[in-house]
Amino acid sequence: MQKTYKVAIIGGGFSGLISAETLSCKLGGENVLLLEKNDRVGKKILATGNGRGNFTNLCLSQEKYHSICGANISQILNKYGNKSIVDYFKGLGVDFSTEDGKVYPSSFQANSLLDALRLKLEYLKTDIRTSSKVEKIVKTKNGFKIVSSQEYFAEKIIFACGGKAGKQYGTDGTSYALLEDLGHTVTKLYPSLVQVKTDTAKIKGLKGLKQEADLSVIIDGKSIVSFRGDVLFTDFGVSGNAVFYASAHLQANKPCQLSISFLPDKSREEIENFIFEKFKNLPYVNLDDCLTGVLNKQIGKAIIKDCSLNGKTFLSAKKIAEKIKDFRLDVKGTLGFDNAQVTKGGIKFNQVDEKTLQSKTASGLYIVGEALDVDGDCGGYNLQWAYSSAKTACDGVIDCYENR
Ligand SMILES: Cc1cc2nc3c(=O)[nH]c(=O)nc-3n(C[C@H](O)[C@H](O)[C@H](O)COP(=O)(O)OP(=O)(O)OC[C@H]3O[C@@H](n4cnc5c(N)ncnc54)[C@H](O)[C@@H]3O)c2cc1C
Repeated sequence: MQKTYKVAIIGGGFSGLISAETLSCKLGGENVLLLEKNDRVGKKILATGNGRGNFTNLCLSQEKYHSICGANISQILNKYGNKSIVDYFKGLGVDFSTEDGKVYPSSFQANSLLDALRLKLEYLKTDIRTSSKVEKIVKTKNGFKIVSSQEYFAEKIIFACGGKAGKQYGTDGTSYALLEDLGHTVTKLYPSLVQVKTDTAKIKGLKGLKQEADLSVIIDGKSIVSFRGDVLFTDFGVSGNAVFYASAHLQANKPCQLSISFLPDKSREEIENFIFEKFKNLPYVNLDDCLTGVLNKQIGKAIIKDCSLNGKTFLSAKKIAEKIKDFRLDVKGTLGFDNAQVTKGGIKFNQVDEKTLQSKTASGLYIVGEALDVDGDCGGYNLQWAYSSAKTACDGVIDCYENR
């Protein structure tokens, strides 16, 4: 007779591994099956935080998250927030350190997170099958049949297949179809935390230059959000951590602009006065060179070029200062899912019970992590969501067994 597992977890990424560990502790590793399509689990975890594993943030709140259909995840974050994930990893022997509010393992190595989970799962004897891509999930009378390289049966499923971002880690978006077959709907999907394509005429010649600045997203003429960080100029547009942060706030259905403030700690008036004094006191400095000593030379030239100036007048000083504080680039798109860290959009949140994340169309199936229509800002919020959602779904599963 074919074995029926209590729970099968599909996807061995961050949320899948945490689900497997939590459920194996409660239900016994022999009752928990983890299916991962890659030849090893947790490939993406190793790449997080530039290999340093930024797994949460001290500034956690619902405002750091986005959802196309307006998911409310505040209850989940209240129960399983940043203290909870830090305690969870401490319980697995991983201490933490912080840098600018970002929380890392104190080794500053992402593999510490993966190793801690893997070692525990080995100890718990969880049934882990790698190179096992799930091709179909079929609802049966008492649970589910799962079709992979072989067939498996389970009473419950945790679906932890991630989204469409970063196909090199196993997430190419094809697994949403497994849930569509069970009656779920996927929102439109967009890449997030990604480099941004812009008009390039204004930034020609700046390729490779990195500058700390305040970067704002402008929609309908208004600044909706602003980040301090690096802006790296490229031949397609802009990259750098400020750009990754900003990309989460772009709206695909509206024209968006990025505004760069190159001297974020100086006011427009201060800059304007400094330049006008320079015009007056240094008559031998021509307009093209007037930003030498104020800004990076190439950036200064790009700004002057974009100003259409008419002589060394007060009006010119004003225009230059305005441009330094608000250098606009029209957004033309992003570098797409292959370069993105996260998927914006996913399985519609109103199709799961918001307390347990159990599917409303296939009872006994729980959906967690990036597969759902929830995406976080840059800074540890996405691994936090993977954790919080996994823990929530595990509570739902455990409740079913405890209340039988
Ligand atoms: C380069 C990079 C850096 C990042 N850095 C950070 C960071 O520093 N901090 C942060 O918070 N977030 C970061 N993220 C985002 C974060 O890694 C993800 O949001 C998070 O891992 C999502 O967790 P998940 O468990 O939902 O899915 P994933 O971790 O993506 O795991 C899904 C797993 O399911 C498997 N799978 C898919 N389909 C199937 C199938 N049909 N059958 C079997 N297995 C399947 C995949 O192979 C994969 O292993 C980064 C992402 C990338 C790409």
